[in-house]
Amino acid sequence: TVVTRFAPSPTGALHIGGARTALFNWLYARGRGGKFLLRIEDTDKARSTDENRQAILDGLTWLGLDWDGEPVSQAAGAERHAEVARELLAKGRAFKCFSTQEEIETFREQAKTEGRSTLFRSPWREVPEEQHPDAPYVVRLKVPLEGETSVEDEVQGTTTWKNDQIDDLVLLRSDGSPVYMLAVVVDDHDMGVTHVIRGDDHMANAIRQSLIYRAMGWEVPVMAHIPLIFGPDGKKLSKRHGATGAAEYRAMGYPAAGMRNYLTRLGWSHGDAEFFTDEEAKAWFDLKGIGKSPARFDFKKLENLCGQHIAAAEDAALLQELEGYLAAVGDNLLTDTQREGMERAMYCLKDRAKTFPELLEKAHFVLTDRPIVPDEKAAKQLDPVSNGILSELTPQMRTASWTREDLESLVKAKAEEHGLGLGKLAGPLRAVLAGRAVSPSVFDMMLVLGREETIARLNDISA
Ligand code: GLU
Repeated sequence: TVVTRFAPSPTGALHIGGARTALFNWLYARGRGGKFLLRIEDTDKARSTDENRQAILDGLTWLGLDWDGEPVSQAAGAERHAEVARELLAKGRAFKCFSTQEEIETFREQAKTEGRSTLFRSPWREVPEEQHPDAPYVVRLKVPLEGETSVEDEVQGTTTWKNDQIDDLVLLRSDGSPVYMLAVVVDDHDMGVTHVIRGDDHMANAIRQSLIYRAMGWEVPVMAHIPLIFGPDGKKLSKRHGATGAAEYRAMGYPAAGMRNYLTRLGWSHGDAEFFTDEEAKAWFDLKGIGKSPARFDFKKLENLCGQHIAAAEDAALLQELEGYLAAVGDNLLTDTQREGMERAMYCLKDRAKTFPELLEKAHFVLTDRPIVPDEKAAKQLDPVSNGILSELTPQMRTASWTREDLESLVKAKAEEHGLGLGKLAGPLRAVLAGRAVSPSVFDMMLVLGREETIARLNDISA
């Protein structure tokens, strides 16, 4: 079975690029009945924090990227990583190197002046154990001196390095602590990872990691190094281009399904499909569809997809997510009355809202109690003449059947009676019912508010 993983370092919150890496791994596993694991690479004790770890888990949870089992702590595996280094020593695939830092420096300087490669070659590589001094040492991998090492990458193709250009990398430091490169390999092996999908900034590591796999006689997982995300100007995505943290997108009120859809399309394609569901994404996602060149972040496209996902969402699920958004940004939660209003109104709030703040703006008419105080834009719609016409509507509204058809013909007839287009009357009516210039259609508002509340709001203007 397929096993993928996301391996963030908790030295920062969840970056949008990390979120995409996690998403690709999640899609690949979920579409194949596989497992998606989470490993927190917390070996850099000075820069790793619990807050960052929590922010990463929160970001993944928000995006709906559920992982299997408990998150693995890389730091907790240090003993196991060291054990593998000792195993490599025992197999003769690694060696103890007693060269001091000064000796290495001297070696490099001399190589430089002589115009030789500055790649450090330890004099201890072949020295037998009996001749070892009682001194501190590091453990180095014995990289083959001849031949080449290749990594097959599903995105980048084959990368080949001449072995004589790869140094005997350190596996254990002189204090016995394992290095990151070793930890990654051991963890991926022990977690049964079959596919490593990550940013192409790790491509150079892949060569060294594959040497460790081979020295242990382990199978190298399938590799897919994905190009980084660029900003609209073709430079690496950074704060200059706008938000880069997943939490910032959440705070801006983008729905998770829209984010998933957009991030899936960011560097991966399936024919000309733009809008798709999670089920489709899981069924379609593959490594072949990952592009070789960096994708550019396109805020317009993100908003467009988010709008489509809000429109397509189920009312109840959307309301629940909206309440999660309010909680996340620390805004007032909905009262029971407001929630009921939202439940009734959701069908007409969903279209043309790209974010939760936009949806809430449209929902103002069910979120506010009488008397409705029009904002500046809405107030411009109101004047004594239109107020007078609107008040003529109330007696008829008392007896009208409260259906969309009848309400439409009622308002149209009233507009015609005064020689007005429907829009000329709908504007003031909107201002009275919503207090806003942006809202669902006046007929939807009347249907959602009901007869009593609609009439009460109209009566408020003449009061
Ligand atoms: N911890 C690494 C990072 O955050 C990822 C390492 C990997 O995926 O192998 O960039």
